[in-house]
Amino acid sequence: MKITEHISKAAGKTLFSFELLPPIKGKSINDIYNAIDPLMEFNPPFIDVTYHREDYIYKQHDSGLLEKLTYRKRPGTVAICAAIMNRYKVDAVPHLICGGFTKEETENALIDLQFLGIDNVLVLRGDARHADAHFVPTPGGHAYATELLNQVIEMNNGKYLYEDHSAFKTEFCVGVAGYPEKHFESPNMKTDFKYLKQKVDMGAEFIVTQMFFDNQKYVDFVRCCRENGINVPIIPGLKPITASKQLISLPKIFHIDLPEDLSEAISDCKNEAAVKELGIEWMIAQCKELMALGAPVLHFYTMSNPEPTRKIAQAIF
Ligand code: FAD
Repeated sequence: MKITEHISKAAGKTLFSFELLPPIKGKSINDIYNAIDPLMEFNPPFIDVTYHREDYIYKQHDSGLLEKLTYRKRPGTVAICAAIMNRYKVDAVPHLICGGFTKEETENALIDLQFLGIDNVLVLRGDARHADAHFVPTPGGHAYATELLNQVIEMNNGKYLYEDHSAFKTEFCVGVAGYPEKHFESPNMKTDFKYLKQKVDMGAEFIVTQMFFDNQKYVDFVRCCRENGINVPIIPGLKPITASKQLISLPKIFHIDLPEDLSEAISDCKNEAAVKELGIEWMIAQCKELMALGAPVLHFYTMSNPEPTRKIAQAIF
């Protein structure tokens, strides 16, 4: 079922959902089930699975030659989505990214997803490779999420890039990312809203936000979206703090601010257990307020560690 249908069916009740990462190569599907099982009692109508671009490693040969190898650390998104749908009978939402895929590979991946009965995709540009200072498009691929979105929407209209298959239309409900604190490459919020509006005008049907720790950022973002004619559901993305080192890593990786109250309280914690407890308490308070504000879904970035999210969900659902 489409995410927009789940939201309308809920008739104003806030839903629960979460995101998982494919396990690092060499792990078992049981790692995925262990990350999902503790959260199923909160009835997620959908579960997101991230996609990860290939990266480089350098291999030193005995001859002294340094070889550049391409590898993907977390493959398996499509298969994991299929396993989730089969085992839990909930919708799996694969993230689709520009980086690492030619347009033809994207076309074929979308056909696979359609065959698997997947109704929703989250369309993103994708992160830069760790080895690159900034995002480098794949030759023959897309440079921006808008271009990838266009390909998905065209296929929904029966327009394929490589052959005429107009009788076989995909029917994906497409979501895109939103940044309450601005995408880090955008010169300003206005530019960010311009592209977000473009995505919605092209056919994106819902937005999932980057994590934030101050609900006012979400409130302002939703208001600005509405003022800019962006009227689709805006799903808040949430991540509880679980370790003191995240005071540095979260702003660095995700380009977000941590409120002073939160960062000071974390710094005052006596040990890591206290940090975890504080992170959960902060998120419970955030969630209660978001529910009161009418957020359609609370979407948790679990990083495949279900326990903090489970404690939060127990307190609010
Ligand atoms: P875009 O919309 O392409 O925007 C990138 C930048 O370019 C922005 O500054 C934007 O303002 C600007 N821009 C947009 N369109 C245009 C245009 N047409 N011309 C010029 N400038 C433009 N990363 C992964 O690798 N895998 C994942 O699974 C993943 N999941 C995510 C889930 C969520 C909910 C979020 C919020 C992020 C996720 N990311 C993921 C990270 C995401 O890929 C990065 O934030 C990336 O830097 C931007 O993605 P985007 O889709 O917003 O890009």
